[in-house]
This record gives sequence, structure tokens and C-alpha cells, in this order.
Amino acid sequence: MINFQYVRASTVKEAIGTLAKAGDGQFIAGGTNLVDLMKRGVTAPQKLIDINNLPLKDVKSDKTSITIGALALNSDVSENELIIKQQPLLSMALKSGASPQLRNMATVGGNMMQRTRCPYFYDTAMPCNKRKPGSGCGAIGGYNRMHAIFGTSNQCIAVHPSDMCVALTALEATVTVSGPKGSRKIPFGDFHKLPGQNPEKDNILQKGELIESVSIPENDFAKNSYYLKLRDRASYAFALVSVAAALSLDGQTIKACRLAMGGVAHKPWRLSEAEKFLAGKKASAENFEQAAKLSMAGAKSFGYNDFKLKMAPAAIVEALSKASGLS
Ligand SMILES: Cc1cc2nc3c(=O)[nH]c(=O)nc-3n(C[C@H](O)[C@H](O)[C@H](O)COP(=O)(O)OP(=O)(O)OC[C@H]3O[C@@H](n4cnc5c(N)ncnc54)[C@H](O)[C@@H]3O)c2cc1C
Ligand code: SF4
Repeated sequence: MINFQYVRASTVKEAIGTLAKAGDGQFIAGGTNLVDLMKRGVTAPQKLIDINNLPLKDVKSDKTSITIGALALNSDVSENELIIKQQPLLSMALKSGASPQLRNMATVGGNMMQRTRCPYFYDTAMPCNKRKPGSGCGAIGGYNRMHAIFGTSNQCIAVHPSDMCVALTALEATVTVSGPKGSRKIPFGDFHKLPGQNPEKDNILQKGELIESVSIPENDFAKNSYYLKLRDRASYAFALVSVAAALSLDGQTIKACRLAMGGVAHKPWRLSEAEKFLAGKKASAENFEQAAKLSMAGAKSFGYNDFKLKMAPAAIVEALSKASGLS
């Protein structure tokens, strides 16, 4: 048995201070990912700092944005009236994730910090550069059906498993974090990183920093948003490929477009070239197909995930068609 200490923090300052002193400690929120990792021996923190009593559960709005506390539950955010009305893309993405029971425990901050679902990462008998730097990558040349086709490195080809984060990337949210050196704001698209030569790091959060909230700026995408998730089962399965599509339409003309994909990279994958291409164009099947083609530049598969090279562009066309009302 591996022993660890458990403490509860009641303020942000206390949580950050306790972690700073703990050395090898970790925050715990819903525990739906961290406890699994501890049970499997993938991680073994000496101290768990329970942050569930921190006042970070609210969803608030002002004239320019909606701010969601890091401890807001995935289920509460997905059912929140303001989110459904103003940011339906986020509600759709959250509802497509996990199961109702898990969403009742999972928090926004925990969802952002969840680790990859690469099976070699969870199997401590296998090599994995993310779990044990320098040990190798079991998935390169192994069973890599769920793995990335964009932004991979010779060290790691894992994907980030979140649905929520794909929508927040497309919606250009901002993350507020606090740590021993103070607070800072991070554009959502910069929060997660590509594997490069240090795949053990999933994101740019510094040691000891706590996610406090996520803010989504006001937009006019509510009428024409769609989150498409393609997976092995209709529920309770991670994305093979997902697409968050948000359009601002003037009749059939696209004034602005936001697109991001999940299940294809180590971070939510923004489709900036496609967005630029579609701006000012007609919402049509031909333009959506061209946008999908542009989005696939640089894609590279690894054998078992070759099918994603066909699935991904088809998913982009389908998500744009649904968002625009073409289908
Ligand atoms: C069977 C199963 C199926 C799933 N399917 C999906 C799916 O389809 N789509 C999807 O998106 N997700 C899915 N998930 C993942 C689930 O959404 C995550 O496990 C959950 O969001 C994690 O949140 P949590 O609050 O439980 O985090 P925890 O497990 O408590 O913590 C996870 C990590 O986040 C850190 N952390 C938590 N809060 C903060 C904070 N505020 N600041 C800094 N660090 C923090 C912890 O230290 C820990 O390292 C699934 C999970 C399971 C078990
Ligand atoms: S893909 Fe990444 S997480 Fe999976 S085995 Fe390779 S290094 Fe580990």
C-alpha cells in the first residue's frame, strides 16, 4: 500500500500555500481521473490537497463575458441556462463527455488537467515517455488507434481526451490561474501544449498553480454552433475525432467562423486556415469541403489510426453543415 496525506483547503491562498510546502503534492477536485491514476500506480502524490471547499463553483456573467469557476461541475455547467442560451457549443461538448454520474463529479479545472487515455500511459509495465521520461513510446509502432495525426513528435503521439476543452478553444476562452508568484491569464488555446521533447508536461501550468476560472468572451455564435463527436459507442466513450464548429451568419454568408478538433492532437487542435478560408464565403457544401481539405495539411497517421485521415475531414464537413443548418 502507498500511503499519502489528505488535507482540505478552504481558501485559494491556503490551497496554494499548502501545495508549495508539500513538495510532491497534488490538488484533488472530483477525483474522477486522479484517483484512477493513483490506483494504477501511474502517479503517487505524497499529499492530496482537497480543493472542493474553495469558493470557485459559480457561473457568472457581465456585459462582455461569462466566467465559470474551476470547481463548477461539468453537469451544472452543461445545464446552466446562461450557457445553454449564450454558449450552446460548450453545453453540447460537455454533454457528449463521459456519463451523467461522472459529469456530476468532474470539475472544469479537473477536465482541463485530465491526463491522456493512451493505454500505454496507464500500463506501468509498458514504456511511456509521458509517464516515465526517456523510457520510450509504446504507441509508436504499437496499437495506436486512438492516437494523434497532428502535432506529434518522436517522443509521444497521445491525444488530449477532453471534449469541453475543444469547445473552449473554439470560443477563445481565457484561463485565470493563481500560484506562489501571483495570478495570470492564459489564452485557452495556449494552455495545453504539443508533446515536443517533453511529453511529460501536458500544459503550461507552473508547479503550484491553481486554475481559478475560465472566461468566455461574448460572441454571436449561439444560433449556429455544433459539437460533433465520433466515437466507438454512442455514450461513455472518448472521441475518435470531434469537431467544435461555430459560425456567425448573415443570411448564407459566413461573417466569422471558429473551428477546433478533438481526438487528433496532444491539445485541442484549432483549424485557423479553414476559419480564414471560410470568412466572407457562402455556407455551402463545396466551401466546407475545401475548408476540410485545408485543415488536413500536415496530417500524419501511424498505422492503426490511418482511418482518422478520412474521418477527420468528413467530420469537419458534417459539423459545419449542422452548424449552418445545411443538414
Ligand atoms: C470512464 C470515464 C470516461 C470519461 N469520458 C470522458 C469523455 O468522453 N470526455 C471528456 O472530456 N472527459 C471524459 N472523462 C474524463 C473526465 O471528464 C475527467 O476525469 C474529469 O473532468 C476530471 O475532473 P475531476 O474534477 O474529477 O479532476 P480530478 O481527478 O480531481 O483531478 C484531475 C487533475 O486535475 C488537477 N486539478 C483539478 N482541479 C484543479 C485546479 N482547479 N487547478 C489545478 N489543477 C487541478 C488535479 O491535481 C489532477 O492532477 C472520462 C472519465 C472517465 C473515468
Ligand atoms: S503516445 Fe505518449 S502517452 Fe502514449 S505511450 Fe507514447 S509517450 Fe506514452
